[in-house]
Amino acid sequence: MKTDEPAERFQRVAEALDALYVLHGKETFDEPDDLLGSLIATLLNQSTSGINASRAFGSLVDTFEGDWDQVRRAPVEEVAEAIVVGGLSNQKAPRIQKILEQVHEERGEYSLEFLREEEPEDARAYLLEFKGVGPKTAAFTLAYAAQMPLFAMNTDVMRVSKRVGWVPASVSDARAHELMQGWVPEGDYDAAHIALVTHGRRVCTSRAPRCAECPLRSDCDHHQKEEE
Ligand code: SF4
Repeated sequence: MKTDEPAERFQRVAEALDALYVLHGKETFDEPDDLLGSLIATLLNQSTSGINASRAFGSLVDTFEGDWDQVRRAPVEEVAEAIVVGGLSNQKAPRIQKILEQVHEERGEYSLEFLREEEPEDARAYLLEFKGVGPKTAAFTLAYAAQMPLFAMNTDVMRVSKRVGWVPASVSDARAHELMQGWVPEGDYDAAHIALVTHGRRVCTSRAPRCAECPLRSDCDHHQKEEE
Protein backbone atom coordinates (compact mmCIF):
# COMPACT_ATOMS: atom_id res chain seq x y z
CA MET A 1 0.00 0.00 0.00
CA LYS A 2 1.32 3.43 -0.89
CA THR A 3 2.08 5.78 1.99
CA ASP A 4 1.13 9.09 0.43
CA GLU A 5 -0.02 12.10 2.42
CA PRO A 6 -3.76 12.49 3.11
CA ALA A 7 -4.21 15.31 0.58
CA GLU A 8 -2.40 13.26 -2.04
CA ARG A 9 -4.48 10.16 -1.28
CA PHE A 10 -7.70 12.19 -1.45
CA GLN A 11 -6.60 13.48 -4.86
CA ARG A 12 -5.68 9.98 -6.10
CA VAL A 13 -9.04 8.57 -5.09
CA ALA A 14 -10.94 11.52 -6.61
CA GLU A 15 -9.07 11.15 -9.92
CA ALA A 16 -9.63 7.39 -9.99
CA LEU A 17 -13.35 7.86 -9.33
CA ASP A 18 -13.56 10.40 -12.16
CA ALA A 19 -12.04 7.79 -14.47
CA LEU A 20 -14.61 5.24 -13.30
CA TYR A 21 -17.49 7.68 -13.89
CA VAL A 22 -16.27 8.09 -17.48
CA LEU A 23 -16.18 4.31 -17.88
CA HIS A 24 -19.36 3.30 -16.05
CA GLY A 25 -21.38 6.52 -15.78
CA LYS A 26 -22.13 8.53 -12.67
CA GLU A 27 -25.34 7.44 -11.01
CA THR A 28 -26.87 8.20 -7.66
CA PHE A 29 -29.22 6.31 -5.35
CA ASP A 30 -32.94 6.62 -6.05
CA GLU A 31 -35.38 8.23 -3.68
CA PRO A 32 -35.18 7.40 0.05
CA ASP A 33 -36.72 4.04 0.92
CA ASP A 34 -38.30 2.32 3.92
CA LEU A 35 -35.49 1.76 6.44
CA LEU A 36 -36.61 -1.51 8.03
CA GLY A 37 -37.38 -3.09 4.65
CA SER A 38 -34.04 -1.88 3.32
CA LEU A 39 -32.19 -3.33 6.31
CA ILE A 40 -33.79 -6.73 5.74
CA ALA A 41 -33.18 -6.55 1.98
CA THR A 42 -29.53 -5.67 2.61
CA LEU A 43 -29.15 -8.51 5.08
CA LEU A 44 -30.57 -10.86 2.45
CA ASN A 45 -27.94 -9.55 0.04
CA GLN A 46 -25.09 -10.88 2.17
CA SER A 47 -23.05 -13.63 0.49
CA THR A 48 -25.28 -13.86 -2.58
CA SER A 49 -25.99 -12.10 -5.86
CA GLY A 50 -28.22 -9.05 -6.10
CA ILE A 51 -30.70 -11.00 -8.22
CA ASN A 52 -31.08 -13.83 -5.72
CA ALA A 53 -31.33 -11.35 -2.85
CA SER A 54 -34.13 -9.47 -4.66
CA ARG A 55 -35.94 -12.73 -5.31
CA ALA A 56 -35.60 -13.73 -1.65
CA PHE A 57 -36.92 -10.38 -0.47
CA GLY A 58 -39.83 -10.54 -2.95
CA SER A 59 -40.66 -14.05 -1.82
CA LEU A 60 -40.55 -13.00 1.85
CA VAL A 61 -42.92 -10.11 1.18
CA ASP A 62 -45.28 -12.25 -0.92
CA THR A 63 -45.33 -15.19 1.51
CA PHE A 64 -46.18 -13.02 4.51
CA GLU A 65 -48.28 -10.43 2.65
CA GLY A 66 -45.81 -7.65 3.40
CA ASP A 67 -46.64 -7.92 7.10
CA TRP A 68 -43.55 -7.88 9.37
CA ASP A 69 -45.65 -9.11 12.29
CA GLN A 70 -46.45 -12.30 10.37
CA VAL A 71 -42.75 -12.75 9.58
CA ARG A 72 -41.79 -12.36 13.23
CA ARG A 73 -44.42 -14.79 14.53
CA ALA A 74 -44.04 -17.48 11.85
CA PRO A 75 -42.15 -20.72 12.53
CA VAL A 76 -38.52 -19.99 11.61
CA GLU A 77 -38.57 -22.85 9.07
CA GLU A 78 -41.29 -21.03 7.11
CA VAL A 79 -39.26 -17.84 7.00
CA ALA A 80 -36.20 -19.83 5.91
CA GLU A 81 -38.25 -21.52 3.20
CA ALA A 82 -39.48 -18.14 1.92
CA ILE A 83 -35.93 -16.80 1.54
CA VAL A 84 -34.20 -20.01 0.47
CA VAL A 85 -33.28 -18.63 -2.96
CA GLY A 86 -31.04 -16.03 -1.25
CA GLY A 87 -28.79 -18.65 0.35
CA LEU A 88 -27.80 -19.09 4.02
CA SER A 89 -31.52 -19.10 4.78
CA ASN A 90 -31.13 -21.04 8.04
CA GLN A 91 -28.82 -18.32 9.31
CA LYS A 92 -30.65 -15.32 7.88
CA ALA A 93 -34.21 -16.34 8.91
CA PRO A 94 -33.61 -16.29 12.70
CA ARG A 95 -31.64 -13.07 12.36
CA ILE A 96 -34.50 -11.38 10.52
CA GLN A 97 -36.97 -12.54 13.16
CA LYS A 98 -34.69 -11.33 15.96
CA ILE A 99 -34.35 -7.89 14.34
CA LEU A 100 -38.14 -7.63 14.00
CA GLU A 101 -38.63 -8.74 17.59
CA GLN A 102 -36.08 -6.25 18.90
CA VAL A 103 -37.43 -3.34 16.84
CA HIS A 104 -40.99 -4.06 17.94
CA GLU A 105 -39.98 -4.44 21.57
CA GLU A 106 -38.04 -1.18 21.60
CA ARG A 107 -40.22 0.98 19.36
CA GLY A 108 -43.70 -0.57 19.67
CA GLU A 109 -43.93 -0.81 15.88
CA TYR A 110 -42.11 -2.32 12.92
CA SER A 111 -40.29 0.77 11.81
CA LEU A 112 -36.82 2.26 11.84
CA GLU A 113 -37.92 5.60 10.44
CA PHE A 114 -36.86 7.35 13.65
CA LEU A 115 -33.24 6.81 12.57
CA ARG A 116 -33.65 9.56 9.95
CA GLU A 117 -33.55 12.08 12.78
CA GLU A 118 -30.36 10.63 14.28
CA GLU A 119 -26.79 11.63 13.52
CA PRO A 120 -25.38 9.21 10.91
CA GLU A 121 -22.82 7.75 13.34
CA ASP A 122 -25.50 7.20 16.01
CA ALA A 123 -27.79 5.54 13.46
CA ARG A 124 -24.93 3.35 12.33
CA ALA A 125 -24.11 2.37 15.94
CA TYR A 126 -27.79 1.46 16.51
CA LEU A 127 -27.91 -0.87 13.51
CA LEU A 128 -24.61 -2.50 14.43
CA GLU A 129 -26.25 -3.76 17.65
CA PHE A 130 -28.33 -6.25 15.65
CA LYS A 131 -26.89 -9.71 15.21
CA GLY A 132 -25.89 -10.23 11.58
CA VAL A 133 -25.63 -6.51 10.83
CA GLY A 134 -22.02 -5.55 10.19
CA PRO A 135 -20.36 -2.37 8.89
CA LYS A 136 -21.27 -3.09 5.25
CA THR A 137 -24.97 -3.73 5.92
CA ALA A 138 -25.33 -0.80 8.32
CA ALA A 139 -23.61 1.74 6.07
CA PHE A 140 -25.44 0.63 2.93
CA THR A 141 -28.87 0.65 4.59
CA LEU A 142 -28.42 4.18 5.90
CA ALA A 143 -26.70 5.56 2.81
CA TYR A 144 -29.27 4.05 0.47
CA ALA A 145 -32.56 4.23 2.36
CA ALA A 146 -31.96 7.41 4.39
CA GLN A 147 -29.39 8.99 2.07
CA MET A 148 -27.12 9.65 5.02
CA PRO A 149 -23.58 10.86 4.27
CA LEU A 150 -21.92 7.48 4.86
CA PHE A 151 -19.69 5.67 2.40
CA ALA A 152 -20.89 2.10 2.00
CA MET A 153 -18.60 -0.73 0.94
CA ASN A 154 -19.81 -4.12 -0.24
CA THR A 155 -17.53 -7.00 -1.25
CA ASP A 156 -16.82 -5.48 -4.68
CA VAL A 157 -15.94 -2.05 -3.30
CA MET A 158 -13.75 -3.65 -0.65
CA ARG A 159 -11.88 -5.73 -3.24
CA VAL A 160 -11.18 -2.82 -5.60
CA SER A 161 -10.14 -0.49 -2.77
CA LYS A 162 -7.69 -3.04 -1.38
CA ARG A 163 -6.25 -4.01 -4.73
CA VAL A 164 -5.62 -0.45 -5.80
CA GLY A 165 -4.04 0.26 -2.41
CA TRP A 166 -6.44 2.78 -0.93
CA VAL A 167 -6.86 0.66 2.20
CA PRO A 168 -4.54 -2.04 3.60
CA ALA A 169 -5.40 -5.62 2.62
CA SER A 170 -5.58 -6.82 6.22
CA VAL A 171 -7.77 -4.03 7.59
CA SER A 172 -11.14 -4.79 9.26
CA ASP A 173 -14.39 -3.90 7.49
CA ALA A 174 -15.09 -1.18 10.06
CA ARG A 175 -11.66 0.42 9.59
CA ALA A 176 -11.92 0.19 5.79
CA HIS A 177 -15.19 2.14 5.96
CA GLU A 178 -13.57 4.76 8.16
CA LEU A 179 -10.63 5.18 5.82
CA MET A 180 -12.60 5.27 2.59
CA GLN A 181 -15.12 7.69 4.06
CA GLY A 182 -12.19 10.08 4.43
CA TRP A 183 -10.81 9.52 0.92
CA VAL A 184 -14.04 9.71 -1.11
CA PRO A 185 -15.39 13.25 -1.65
CA GLU A 186 -18.46 13.49 0.62
CA GLY A 187 -20.96 14.63 -1.99
CA ASP A 188 -20.04 11.63 -4.12
CA TYR A 189 -20.54 8.77 -1.63
CA ASP A 190 -23.46 7.21 -3.51
CA ALA A 191 -22.00 7.72 -7.00
CA ALA A 192 -18.63 6.33 -5.85
CA HIS A 193 -20.32 3.29 -4.29
CA ILE A 194 -22.25 2.52 -7.48
CA ALA A 195 -19.20 3.06 -9.75
CA LEU A 196 -16.96 0.85 -7.60
CA VAL A 197 -19.58 -1.92 -7.39
CA THR A 198 -19.95 -1.81 -11.18
CA HIS A 199 -16.18 -1.81 -11.64
CA GLY A 200 -15.77 -4.76 -9.28
CA ARG A 201 -18.39 -6.76 -11.16
CA ARG A 202 -17.39 -5.90 -14.73
CA VAL A 203 -13.64 -5.29 -14.66
CA CYS A 204 -11.92 -5.90 -11.31
CA THR A 205 -13.59 -9.26 -10.84
CA SER A 206 -12.67 -11.55 -8.01
CA ARG A 207 -10.95 -14.31 -9.99
CA ALA A 208 -9.67 -12.68 -13.16
CA PRO A 209 -9.38 -8.89 -13.07
CA ARG A 210 -9.23 -7.43 -16.57
CA CYS A 211 -6.40 -5.02 -15.83
CA ALA A 212 -5.66 -4.29 -19.50
CA GLU A 213 -9.07 -2.56 -19.72
CA CYS A 214 -8.83 -0.78 -16.39
CA PRO A 215 -8.20 2.98 -16.16
CA LEU A 216 -6.79 2.51 -12.64
CA ARG A 217 -3.92 0.19 -13.64
CA SER A 218 -1.13 2.79 -13.63
CA ASP A 219 -1.83 3.48 -9.95
CA CYS A 220 -2.89 0.00 -8.82
CA ASP A 221 -0.75 -1.94 -6.33
CA HIS A 222 -2.21 -5.29 -7.35
CA HIS A 223 -1.58 -4.74 -11.04
CA GLN A 224 1.94 -3.49 -10.46
CA LYS A 225 2.77 -6.57 -8.37
CA GLU A 226 1.44 -8.81 -11.12
CA GLU A 227 3.68 -7.03 -13.62
CA GLU A 228 6.86 -7.53 -11.58
S1 SF4 B 1 -5.73 -2.60 -12.47
FE1 SF4 B 1 -6.58 -4.66 -12.28
S2 SF4 B 1 -6.49 -5.18 -10.10
FE2 SF4 B 1 -6.22 -2.95 -10.30
S3 SF4 B 1 -8.27 -2.09 -10.06
FE3 SF4 B 1 -7.94 -2.37 -12.22
S4 SF4 B 1 -8.76 -4.41 -12.70
FE4 SF4 B 1 -8.50 -4.27 -10.47
